[in-house]
Amino acid sequence: MKYHKIPDEAVRRLPFYLRGLLTLSGRGCKSISSRDLADLLGFSHWQIRKDFSYFGSFGTPGTGYDIEKLIKQIRKILKLEVVRKAALVGVGNLGLAVLRYPGFQVYGFEITAAFDNNPKKIGRKVGDITIENVSGLCGLKKRGIDFGVVTVPCEAAQQTFDALVAAGVKGILSFSPCQKTGREKVKVITIDIAMDLVRLPYYTPANPKRSKSR
Ligand code: NAD
Repeated sequence: MKYHKIPDEAVRRLPFYLRGLLTLSGRGCKSISSRDLADLLGFSHWQIRKDFSYFGSFGTPGTGYDIEKLIKQIRKILKLEVVRKAALVGVGNLGLAVLRYPGFQVYGFEITAAFDNNPKKIGRKVGDITIENVSGLCGLKKRGIDFGVVTVPCEAAQQTFDALVAAGVKGILSFSPCQKTGREKVKVITIDIAMDLVRLPYYTPANPKRSKSR
């Protein structure tokens, strides 16, 4: 099937659809209407219909969307049909939590290597993974690792990016907002929990007794 160019906003929603559909599949559901899926995920049903229309028509009037077919298509679009391997750099507080999180595998993602520059950490094991010296980053390609997860302090972010790009990764997920840039061919997605946290009060009712101006 030939896909239309899918807007970034729709691509951003695809993993949420995938998560919902996998949950439904796990419960033994075979099909779902866009309205029921919308209720489950908190998106509008027209948005879901529009997004699904980018990659074909899976809905049958009266019965809804075929869940397994949709899962397959979304995996295909996200290029998750094969296991994707990632390396994590910076095994500190955050890195350790990410490394121990078991929730990536269901989407076909695995963190298979971890690197640090602290000699006291190099050689330690986290689950099945032995922490390696960052100097070993250059060998990622040979190990089939295409993605990097960056959890180093701000001041080490740019050099870590440069090392990952030199190692030939195709994409980087960064928890550090400090790097200047990736490189043209490398997709960088930055996560900053603070950016989500600070917009939370906007959606909450004002409490005049407690509010203090800054
Ligand atoms: P940490 O100090 O506990 O861990 C950092 C680790 O990186 C350490 O193990 C250190 O040895 C290692 N490191 C330092 N320089 C390195 C280098 N050049 N190469 C390889 N490893 C190196 O810090 P943390 O609390 O885990 O935070 C890590 C980063 O994540 C910080 O930049 C922090 O600001 C950021 N952070 C982001 C979010 C978010 O929402 N994006 C949330 C929490 C923390």
